[in-house]
Amino acid sequence: MDPAIASELDKFPDNDTVPFRATLNHTQSTWARTFHSYPELYIQPQTLPEIEKAISLARRCRRRIATVGCGHSPSAMTTTSSWLINLDHYNKILEINNESGVVRMQSGIRLYMVGDELDKVGLAMPNLGSINQQSIAGAISTGTHGSTLRHGILSSSILSLKITLANGKTETCSPTENEELFRAALISLGALGVISEITFQAVPAFTLEWKQTIDTDFSMFESWGKQLWKQSEFVRVWWFPYTRRAVVWKADKTENEARPPPKSYYDAWLGYHVYHNLLAVSQYVPGILPWIEWFVFGMQYGFINGTVTSAIQPSRQALLMNCLYSQFVNEWALPLHKGPEALRRLSSWLNQLTPSDPDYVPHGIPFSAEGLYVHAPVEVRVTETSNSTTPRPYLDPTCTDEATLYLNATLYRPYNQDPPCRFRYYQGFEYLMKELGGRPHWAKNFETSGPEIEDMYGERLQEWRSIRDNVDPEGMFVGEWHRQVVMGSGPRLALEEIEVMREKAGGGGVLIRGQVGKGVASPLSTKSSEESFDEMRASEITIKGE
Ligand SMILES: Cc1cc2nc3c(=O)[nH]c(=O)nc-3n(C[C@H](O)[C@H](O)[C@H](O)COP(=O)(O)OP(=O)(O)OC[C@H]3O[C@@H](n4cnc5c(N)ncnc54)[C@H](O)[C@@H]3O)c2cc1C
Repeated sequence: MDPAIASELDKFPDNDTVPFRATLNHTQSTWARTFHSYPELYIQPQTLPEIEKAISLARRCRRRIATVGCGHSPSAMTTTSSWLINLDHYNKILEINNESGVVRMQSGIRLYMVGDELDKVGLAMPNLGSINQQSIAGAISTGTHGSTLRHGILSSSILSLKITLANGKTETCSPTENEELFRAALISLGALGVISEITFQAVPAFTLEWKQTIDTDFSMFESWGKQLWKQSEFVRVWWFPYTRRAVVWKADKTENEARPPPKSYYDAWLGYHVYHNLLAVSQYVPGILPWIEWFVFGMQYGFINGTVTSAIQPSRQALLMNCLYSQFVNEWALPLHKGPEALRRLSSWLNQLTPSDPDYVPHGIPFSAEGLYVHAPVEVRVTETSNSTTPRPYLDPTCTDEATLYLNATLYRPYNQDPPCRFRYYQGFEYLMKELGGRPHWAKNFETSGPEIEDMYGERLQEWRSIRDNVDPEGMFVGEWHRQVVMGSGPRLALEEIEVMREKAGGGGVLIRGQVGKGVASPLSTKSSEESFDEMRASEITIKGE
């Protein structure tokens, strides 16, 4: 450890009782191995005083802090060359009220652990995305969602939370206490502080009877504004652009006995490796991707339209899916009624349809799709927050006046190699999403610029920034990703980390190196830390140049 850090650490009077659990030589990679970085220190606190101490020490040592859950966000948002906090060892359920379903937990807990613990007392999470590997803090920090019109995003089940701020003090916030901080912290992108505790509303455990049907995309479009999204509590769709088919998956609560999904010889190991190797071949021969789509998803869901698969499973199994391999994901939230237009235009573009084709619509995308072949499926999901009575996060991408559609353009990275179609596919896809009034999912691989994000969020982004600046005036929780996406063109902050190098990593992905403070030409924040922490009613002050 840098002797200057060791010497600063020695000055803490509580070193015997509050350890600083930091290790050197950690390599941080996203789950998808899309981005890598070498943090100076990797810190895994086990208690709240340890979290507070790590932050106070970082401030005194003039370091930036990034926080990582399990790195399931495939963007560069969790890369750092400074200090990285991970709460995998701060992951206990603290209290469960079986009657009310209110559960209080340490924020590093993974969603599958929450599910296991709740299940022991007959409770469950009301909703889940496609996986349950995420830490609860990481999941809410990027606006993670599932697919249902009867629930909002995961953050909407949070009743209150504790967050440790740049001054090393922990604040509680909820709809009735520090409401603005609560709204800023519900989707904070790790830029506000370290979320340390979460109180969550669970529901009685439930079993889901699900049914999935593969059919033409035409029949999915036909039912879009009618029954498609309302027919069951949970509904999601996988759309296949080349075969122009769609799987509609729907699930409702049931009291019936569990019945596992049917097994076929192709499932699991064989299907996994066949698809992976076909994708690897397509890196060199992209023109086979339409055939791969037909073959792989025909094997999985059936070649004949109308083929149905069904099962009965506990919710925490039924709602999950196998997300297979490393991938880029580019997911956008847009008004639900724009769905058919979005998918038809995307289909027209990708398939280069001409007016003689019955599915033709003018796509209006000003980039050529000639020679472009992409992966399937596009995930089509929904959420409903427009009727929510809970405080809306400032950075909530969902729609306020109607239900929200999410379209997710997945691109696999076979054997961790980037697909050649990425740039043009995402260029066309993002153009379309923006034209239809979309906003990107924060965790994912979008290229949209900061000024465009400002236009999408308007006042709400300004309010979030002002709360953020107030609690972290020196930018201890700000990295390059935040600057580019949500921080605007304001002055670089004293502890903000800037990117100084980006290179291809051996084995795939991008290695990023950053630097804190040094080499930053722009002036420091004008607001003094003392003022802002007084506003937060926290007593310890940050002294610039301490
Ligand atoms: C295979 C796969 C499937 C997915 N499925 C879905 C899905 O169905 N729906 C959906 O919406 N998303 C989905 N995602 C995205 C995923 O839910 C988000 O990326 C989520 O943020 C990951 O949680 P994490 O614990 O890995 O957080 P990380 O990716 O490690 O971090 C995400 C953000 O949270 C911040 N953060 C983490 N912990 C804390 C903390 N204690 N305090 C403050 N900030 C913190 C980080 O700084 C960062 O800004 C999926 C991702 C993958 C890889």
